[in-house]
Amino acid sequence: MQIILLGPPGSGKGTQGKKLAEKYQLEHISTGDLLRNNPDLTEEQKNIIQSGNLIPDNLMLEIVTTKLKGCRDKGWILDGYPRTTKQAKDLDSVLSGVEKKVLYFAIKDDELMKRLTGRLTCSSCGAVFHKISNPPKKSNICDICNSELYQRSDDTEEIVKKRLETYHQHTEPVINYYKNNKNLSTLDSGGGKSIEEIFEQAKKKLHI
Ligand code: AMP
Repeated sequence: MQIILLGPPGSGKGTQGKKLAEKYQLEHISTGDLLRNNPDLTEEQKNIIQSGNLIPDNLMLEIVTTKLKGCRDKGWILDGYPRTTKQAKDLDSVLSGVEKKVLYFAIKDDELMKRLTGRLTCSSCGAVFHKISNPPKKSNICDICNSELYQRSDDTEEIVKKRLETYHQHTEPVINYYKNNKNLSTLDSGGGKSIEEIFEQAKKKLHI
């Protein structure tokens, strides 16, 4: 099974990607996590991430191709890639003939701002909580692995605004790219639904 999760930052792709990967034993490939955990990232690349812009397509292709090569015998979920039409085309060239399901997480910007600026991320396992809607049991401690939670430096109001702008400009066209190829389903991930409710919807939309 090969799945692509599309949607703006904070739409729930990461949370649902992890849950789907666990249930169906798929490799969860989050390009944001791969970048954040990459010790070889240059200062210039760190600044790009920190300012809410996009890492160049050629570097992203290299990172994703290397990761996909390691998944030859396993299905995967791509979370955060492709983010430009060029990346979508690159992926099609690399995976020519591979059938992919694309799930688009639709949600409005004002809800995303609240979600992202209240988000707490685990420094060790990457689990995500929210100060108000999904607080950890112990303040600032991950329920899953007991490590410390932190606020991502790009989850501040100013950077979130820029990330949403980047999303509308560069990533929204990718939705049409997959719509035209007729392999996209849309999930309404807004409106205060629980993680479990969205998970049920996601499985239905993906027919799994
Ligand atoms: P995320 O954790 O998915 O929100 O990604 C965090 C940041 O990593 C983004 O704001 C981008 O700067 C960078 N990034 C992640 N995935 C990509 C991608 N496919 N193309 C370019 N930049 C990316």
